[in-house]
Amino acid sequence: MANGHFAAVGDHNDMASYEHGVQVVDENKEFNPNLSKYLSIEDVTTAGFNYHLISVFGSQSTGKSTLLNHLFGTEFSVMSELERRQTTKGIWLSKNKNAGGDATGSGSRMADNILVMDVEGTDGRERGEDQDFERKSALFALATSEVLIVNIWEHQVGLYQGANMGLLKTVFEVNLQLFLKDKHTTHRSLLFFVIRDFIGNTPLKNLQKTLLEDLSRLWGTISKPAGLENSTIHDYFDFQFYGLPHKGYQPEQFAAETKKLGLRFREGHRDPKKDALRGEFSEGGIFLPEYHRRIPADGYAHYAEGIWDQIVNNKDLDLPTQQELLAQFRCDEILREVMIGFDEAITAFEDKQAEAVRLGAPAVLGGLGAAMRSARSKTLKGFETEASRYHKGVYQRKKAELEGKVDTRLKALFHGQLSAAHKSGIREFSEAVTNAVKTGQKKGGNYDFAEIVNQEMDVALEKFEEAARSTLVEGTSWSNYKQQLGLYEKELAEVSTSLRRDEMRRLASRVERWVQSRLGDSVGLEFNALGSGRAGGGAPETGEKPTEKAFWDRIWNVFVETVLDAERRFTDRASSFDASLEEVDVGLWRLRRKSWGVLRAKIDEEMIEGNLLLKLRENFEDKFRYDEAGVPRIWRPTDDIEGVYTRARESTLTLIPLLSRFRLDETSAPPSLDRWIGHTPSSATAADEEDLAPIGGVDEDEGTSLEEEMTILGDSKRQELTVRFKKAADGVYVEAKRSAIGGMTQ
Ligand code: GDP
Ligand code: MG
Repeated sequence: MANGHFAAVGDHNDMASYEHGVQVVDENKEFNPNLSKYLSIEDVTTAGFNYHLISVFGSQSTGKSTLLNHLFGTEFSVMSELERRQTTKGIWLSKNKNAGGDATGSGSRMADNILVMDVEGTDGRERGEDQDFERKSALFALATSEVLIVNIWEHQVGLYQGANMGLLKTVFEVNLQLFLKDKHTTHRSLLFFVIRDFIGNTPLKNLQKTLLEDLSRLWGTISKPAGLENSTIHDYFDFQFYGLPHKGYQPEQFAAETKKLGLRFREGHRDPKKDALRGEFSEGGIFLPEYHRRIPADGYAHYAEGIWDQIVNNKDLDLPTQQELLAQFRCDEILREVMIGFDEAITAFEDKQAEAVRLGAPAVLGGLGAAMRSARSKTLKGFETEASRYHKGVYQRKKAELEGKVDTRLKALFHGQLSAAHKSGIREFSEAVTNAVKTGQKKGGNYDFAEIVNQEMDVALEKFEEAARSTLVEGTSWSNYKQQLGLYEKELAEVSTSLRRDEMRRLASRVERWVQSRLGDSVGLEFNALGSGRAGGGAPETGEKPTEKAFWDRIWNVFVETVLDAERRFTDRASSFDASLEEVDVGLWRLRRKSWGVLRAKIDEEMIEGNLLLKLRENFEDKFRYDEAGVPRIWRPTDDIEGVYTRARESTLTLIPLLSRFRLDETSAPPSLDRWIGHTPSSATAADEEDLAPIGGVDEDEGTSLEEEMTILGDSKRQELTVRFKKAADGVYVEAKRSAIGGMTQ
């Protein structure tokens, strides 16, 4: 609504649009939405509290606009001498154009950013009875200004019933109403009387006295709220008086005096210590800090609009509430502004992190910590600088809100970083150990697993802590990683345990292969000895058949010793990489079971029918073709070929039942395999048992007995073997017989 009316002004950004200042409120009592634009064009917005507001009051056509233009170099419209019509409508505002603190070369005490408000005068012909606007504009000026210039003709001084007194009564009433609600701050305003067409016949001192007496009388007539009955006019106002000569009749003096007065207005703060009595100072600057309404410049336009809105709608003007509302509005705005900078610094990291998580490739982000620290402090500092000028309670609340916003996001980033450091750390640790083991294996397998793990663990912890430490943001409660470090250490330990289990498996299969090769040799030797009929540990002179004697005992012994040796190797190596007793126990138990499997497979290999038949035949031939001294027999027809044949055959045949069952000579029973293997360790897991072949008599639930496990040849195999062996032996016998006869015929 108001926008439409002021749009033409708002469309231009240039100073030219504002040559007469800006119309804050127009004749229809509408507030100009471009006020803040004007203030920023005039470079006032960033001034904080370093600005001043001066308003002028007085009857219409008493030269107010003319006065302001002279004092401050403004270009408010003034009535043309020819038309005599009201020119100033509503309320105008302009920045001081004369040299002040802003200008170069001027003294450092000069006031910066003086804003002047030209208020439409009353009691003129045009508006006449319209007291409403007078009251509203007085209220507005008082709520915002530090100094009210009261413009008055000299000849009106002492005319107690005059129009000016009506205006001042309004100012006093409005003042009481305005600052009643705000008891915490002591507001003072300066009423600066400029006495126009001052001739000088009556000294200024006397005029001043008359005016003060009239004002006190006026103060006495207004009804005061409870508790303030005894208050005096001096509790709220300071007074200052100045006489100006007639502009038309004494133009030079007028110019000189306005120049002098303008300088005083621009001179900045006065030193109250130099004033003998408050209200009676007359030299130096005029501003006092307590006149200032404490509205930061960047919030002024919004505040003024809110105040005007309340005034226009005849609401009770409650300045503390207005200031709180302004604080909320501006703190929100400032919060949004600083968050833009925060977003610029942080969003890219958030996106990167989210993307990495989405791809399942968490990565530690470089430079994150520095960015977080600088973004946080910049954002909070920026907010503090701008927003701390506003209502303390609101500011504190909004500051907490901002910190919450900032920290929620930084905390998420921090935890994302820790999570990435955790995940990548675990992965790198696992890879590093695996690679080091591989390298160690290539170099001959003589590596120290425990040392590899310890070294890589140190590296992994250092990396994690480095990533975490560099992402810390001081001054926050959430910025610590103790708990996450604990979790990380725990998972590293778990991964080490699993890597060690893998290493144990590798060690176990190495040892198993060793057992396999050793047993292959030694058991093979024992079986080969069968073929000679004399090998092994037996003593020929006792007449016992050495090969057969204690055959299985030797196998068992060589087996037990080999495995014992292997167990020693396994234990040595496993303890070198910090395997626990339980882990070693399980490893040994598995090794014994697997070794038994290896032995059993080796025996079965030797027992393949062809192999065995060959051995029996060699055994037989050895006994049949050689005498006791090992000399080959030359058969003669007179020899007892049949007897020798029968003895040798029967002797070899005894091998078949012997070989059929694995039993020890000492006990004529199978070795107690179950005792030798031992109980399943309680710490063995399902995974540990998964790849193990069942063993009869050891695994009770298998249904096969130890006897069955120890049966090497079944009955039918034995019979078949006996038949085939006999046939082979018969062949040898027939051949011998033939050779004997043949030898004779030769
Ligand atoms: P405003 O309505 O109070 O803003 O008054 P203006 O500044 O528009 O001036 C009204 C008229 O008074 C103009 O014609 C001025 O020339 C005239 N005027 C300005 N200054 C003086 C002065 O010091 N003495 C007299 N008598 N007239 C003045
Ligand atoms: Mg005017």
